[in-house]
Amino acid sequence: MSVISSITSKDAIALEQKYGAQNYHPLPVVLSRGEGVYVWDVEGRKYFDFLSAYSAVNQGHCHPKIISALKEQAENLTLTSRAFYNDMLGRYEKYVSEYFGFDKVLPMNTGAEAVETAIKLARKWGYEKKGIHANKAKIIVCQNNFHGRTITIISASNDPTATENFGPFTPGIVSIRYNDLNALQEVLKDGDVAGFLVEPIQGEAGVYVPDETYIQEAYALCKENNVLFIADEVQTGIARTGRLLATCGNCSCPDKSCSGAPEVKPDILILGKALSGGVFPVSAVLANTEIMDVIRPGNHGSTFGGNPLACAVAIAALEVVKEEGLAENADYLGTIFRKEMEKLIERTDLVRLVRGKGLLNAIVINDTEDSSTAWNICLALKENGLLAKPTHGNIIRFAPPLVMTEDQLLECVAIITKTILDFEH
Ligand SMILES: *Cc1c(COP(=O)(O)O)cnc(C)c1O
Repeated sequence: MSVISSITSKDAIALEQKYGAQNYHPLPVVLSRGEGVYVWDVEGRKYFDFLSAYSAVNQGHCHPKIISALKEQAENLTLTSRAFYNDMLGRYEKYVSEYFGFDKVLPMNTGAEAVETAIKLARKWGYEKKGIHANKAKIIVCQNNFHGRTITIISASNDPTATENFGPFTPGIVSIRYNDLNALQEVLKDGDVAGFLVEPIQGEAGVYVPDETYIQEAYALCKENNVLFIADEVQTGIARTGRLLATCGNCSCPDKSCSGAPEVKPDILILGKALSGGVFPVSAVLANTEIMDVIRPGNHGSTFGGNPLACAVAIAALEVVKEEGLAENADYLGTIFRKEMEKLIERTDLVRLVRGKGLLNAIVINDTEDSSTAWNICLALKENGLLAKPTHGNIIRFAPPLVMTEDQLLECVAIITKTILDFEH
């Protein structure tokens, strides 16, 4: 029995508008159920989810194994705080550390918290291990990044919508161009630099894939200069880009679910989103002992971080990724998807290009950045049974759950193709 009786789309939207802070601009669809690659609205219409909650639902909606772990753990113990030990945390810490090939993990909840944690860790390492003078540590970030929404993180942002009237900002952040090794080399000459925080593919910015060797060479430059390479894989990680981690994306390793090429092994790895299969917020910061051990009791914490419910859910969510070969599937389907989009591009002027890796892709609509064309195409896609959302004006991100089958993907390609060919300017 549902606690809440049914509601119409119109009423649900009206309630959010009246009582909710208007910090989002959602597509006008009200969802009440999800299963695998599908979601249903309150009127019972079925859609393909082509956003996957910004890649949190890589394992598909309400994955039975993850939900069953959630239910089972919820009946035993949900939260102890870190004032006491619990019987799940150590097991989860071992599991997740070994899974991604690190010595240790620091558990948090949201992606933004994990990024904050990584920045704190890098700064502390900078003072205590690298010998940077007090309060001088710098973190290098890239333009057009997206790392979350806290004050420190938006201090690293150059998106006016995210920053305007939220100052003053956190000092000690230096922004350089993405995919620019010369710029990186230049800033790394500064001995006060503690870390380089980077997305292996810039997701929110519009799925910008850097040059093939960028990540590897950036990593090498960090090594040369004793600077921590901090990979924000909150969106790209956990099989999304056709590898377990996108930092592994350029290696020739045949095992797509391996935890990273030796040539690109982040000093600090940040995960979130799909770490729980979208069941609830679970994030993590992974590092080896010589870095992680600068954090001592009392230095950092979170009431919910490492709660037993999160631990049980995350273990199940990560098991699903391996058991169901989601990295391999994302790699395979992504290649088909981009090929099909190339065919579409030959048939219409409306789409300028397709780019991406695995099942993290975007098409760029042939219109100005401030046009509503991409938004209107997403409305038309919704009418045809597929949910996607523009990012930065004229870019539409396509990121379905990784449990999709080839037949389902081709059905989606047909919907996208028909919608765009039918679309009136
Ligand atoms: C979503 C995202 C975050 C922030 O995660 P939240 O859970 O929304 O705080 C950080 N980094 C990247 C790359 C993301 O995509």
